[in-house]
Amino acid sequence: MTFSLHGLAVARGIAIGRAVVIAGSRTEVRHYFIQPEQVPDELARAQRARDAVAHELQRLSDELPADAPAELAALLDVHLMLLQDEVLSHGIDQWIVERRYNAEWALVTQLEQVARQFDEMDDPYLRERKADLEQIVDRILRHMRGQACPAALQGRTSAGASDSSDTLILVAQDLSPADMLQFKRSVFAGFITSVGGKTSHTAIVARSMDIPAVVGARQAHQLIRQDDWLIVDGDAGIVLVDPSPAMLEEYRFRQRQVALERERLARLRHAPALTMDGQNIELLANIEQPTDAASAVQAGADGVGLFRSEFLFMGRDGQLPDEQEQYQAYLAAVEGMQGRPLTIRTIDIGADKPLERHGRDVILNPALGLRAIRWSLAEPSMFRVQLRAVLRAASHGPVKLMFPMMAHRHEILQTLALVEQARQELQQRGQPYGAVQLGAMIEVPAAALMVDVFLQYFDFVSLGTNDLIQYTLAIDRADEEVAHLYDPLHPAVLQLIAQVIAAAQARGKSVSVCGEMAGDPSMTRLLLGLGLRSFSMHPAQLLTIKQEVLRADTRKLAPWAQQVLVANDPEAQLHASS
Ligand code: PEP
Ligand code: MG
Repeated sequence: MTFSLHGLAVARGIAIGRAVVIAGSRTEVRHYFIQPEQVPDELARAQRARDAVAHELQRLSDELPADAPAELAALLDVHLMLLQDEVLSHGIDQWIVERRYNAEWALVTQLEQVARQFDEMDDPYLRERKADLEQIVDRILRHMRGQACPAALQGRTSAGASDSSDTLILVAQDLSPADMLQFKRSVFAGFITSVGGKTSHTAIVARSMDIPAVVGARQAHQLIRQDDWLIVDGDAGIVLVDPSPAMLEEYRFRQRQVALERERLARLRHAPALTMDGQNIELLANIEQPTDAASAVQAGADGVGLFRSEFLFMGRDGQLPDEQEQYQAYLAAVEGMQGRPLTIRTIDIGADKPLERHGRDVILNPALGLRAIRWSLAEPSMFRVQLRAVLRAASHGPVKLMFPMMAHRHEILQTLALVEQARQELQQRGQPYGAVQLGAMIEVPAAALMVDVFLQYFDFVSLGTNDLIQYTLAIDRADEEVAHLYDPLHPAVLQLIAQVIAAAQARGKSVSVCGEMAGDPSMTRLLLGLGLRSFSMHPAQLLTIKQEVLRADTRKLAPWAQQVLVANDPEAQLHASS
């Protein structure tokens, strides 16, 4: 039966393929594809974990005191029976062999299949056995932990690992940014999540992968079943489940059109980004990993305006990279940029990018908590490790250093003092380091309002509009329930952006936008009209924005942008001709 789900369009294009559903409640387990030669080991690993649990349950049963309630013994028997049921073990093995899922993924996928069967049973006693099955799966998962295959520990997902000739589309309740990263360069042709906002970090990584994605498609992970045929319309934010042949044909036609449009845009790669009135516009890339530098160069970026360094720290089971490892990563990015400037943003963990090591389980307002520079200043020795690694990499090519989420003058002073201390430490060691320009992200309204203070201390500023919108409007950027209120064109947001651009220009300092607004073609003319000359975005968006730049005339856009700024309804004004 065909049905459609509506969510938020986060990454453009059309994907058609079969669903790979990640069980909703256990998204924290590792999901990755294994290599064909790893299949026997993975099967053995799954078997060992099952055997260990069987052994554990048997021992518990044997050691039950004579006066233990009879129900307890019966319950252990039920658990043993469920564990030894062939449906579970065969299913797990099948996912490993046929789809090359890692053992944990195979286990939770099979749990989901069997759990659905339990849900459909009429007998309430049998229906309740689902909870027992879940407990067994949790036990097996505990045994699997600590014996993951090495590929998982390196967070590697091999491209083309799946045997299936079908295109695959990943469906999950939610995916952490670390999970998304693991799926980067994997076999998936599209992503769907049930929760999430347009500028959540999961959406950002999906966009950087340049494959169609829809987030906030409520209950998608429950309504879509393994292997369902899906169409993901990343432009409209729509998912079609079990589409008719006529629908498939229409969307295949649209897919071809998208491909043709891309080919056309590719011709702009070597064209200079000049407006019609001759203004040179800097187009920079946002990257998450050193290897992304290649796609930045490939897209024709003038440099990297935002390297989100926190992705080096995530998904590592709490093992933070040491100075040498970080240095190697930054060096790889410097080399990858082949002489173009690389802006490394210091670690921005917290909010929707938690670090496993973080300690406290429940943080009431994570976006307002110990995030970004606050965390770095609370862990100064860790922060200096990162600063030293960046300074060392800067001796190999042009590097800029940028700090996230600053709001206070004392944070500026503390940060600059730590940079100085890191330099001195390198000097004492006799280790070479390079000169770096220092910049601040303006992403808290307080920073935008006192941007002059920031401009006194820093060489450049970059507007983090994703957070600036979130904090100005008090809208959680990752929450699909309030996504309709997350408005980049809110007059208060526009005024803050305009003020920051004007203040930086008045002081002759460079200012960029590195939030998602910079890669949104419907915003390009407005930002140019407000005086912005530097945009940083996902490499995949670069040529679309260049096309907007080539069509723009800033002499006409400047007075029009001032009208948008004072309009009661900036959105309507934006669509009025400039
Ligand atoms: C921003 O907030 O706009 C930004 C670029 O940083 P991040 O999205 O990583 O929070
Ligand atoms: Mg931010």
